Amino acid sequence: MVELSVVVPLYNEKDNLHRLYQAVTDAVQGRIESYEIVGVNDGSTDGSAEWLDRMAEADSRLRVIHFERNCGQTAAIYAGIKQASGRYIALIDGDLQTDPNDIFTLMPYMKDYDFANGMRVRRQDTLVKRVSSRIGNGVRNKITGDKINDTGCPMKLFKREVASSYFLYEGFHRFLPTLARMNGYRVIEVPVSHREREFGVSKYGVWNRALVGLMDAIVIGWLRKRTIRYRIKGEERVDVHAAKH
Ligand code: UDP
Ligand code: MG
Repeated sequence: MVELSVVVPLYNEKDNLHRLYQAVTDAVQGRIESYEIVGVNDGSTDGSAEWLDRMAEADSRLRVIHFERNCGQTAAIYAGIKQASGRYIALIDGDLQTDPNDIFTLMPYMKDYDFANGMRVRRQDTLVKRVSSRIGNGVRNKITGDKINDTGCPMKLFKREVASSYFLYEGFHRFLPTLARMNGYRVIEVPVSHREREFGVSKYGVWNRALVGLMDAIVIGWLRKRTIRYRIKGEERVDVHAAKH
């Protein structure tokens, strides 16, 4: 078991790989007792696989998993957190739009919380993306009954037990903080920095996530209402699905 696993889903991010590896390494080295980087190659077709294998050969702290084909971001995240051996798991995107140093902006919150979700305060994305994301967050909160300002922020840090409580379906990576709360964990949002994507391209437009995102929110809202909570007579703790208190 290591102290920290940094999990990164990667789909056609070849031009980001080396900078990503360097930025994560610079951020965590010396600041934490032990760490690993888990890169999940989600069926990239741009030659990322060879780069990743070569980098992993040179540094045993980098572990790489290759999917046979593109299976989507939720699958990549799920595979990554299942493989991760860290006491804490940091989740970041491969495009370096968030700063790996912010893992340590979130870390102090692990004392009182189980899940710290980044919140992009000065978001560096196109206007269309910022507006659609704001609407998306509003609609999601309305439907799920939760209150998360920036569920899509790629920078997240959570404890190992949160990761093992997850049972994810396609699209559920957009609801990780809400799902953690539903499973009985303490969640907080913390401001983090954000910058423009410099290399590679975004894998999403506005419309390819709007409708299906809406359906997902309805499902999550329904599941949230159906959460099981019980306390056995004479016992202190309340059981909420996977979490024990
Ligand atoms: N990603 C992935 N599989 C996919 C689509 C995206 O692993 O099918 C990864 C991608 O490489 C990136 C992260 O998920 O590391 C977020 O994708 P992107 O930056 O394109 O999303 P955006 O920031 O534009 O919402
Ligand atoms: Mg991005």
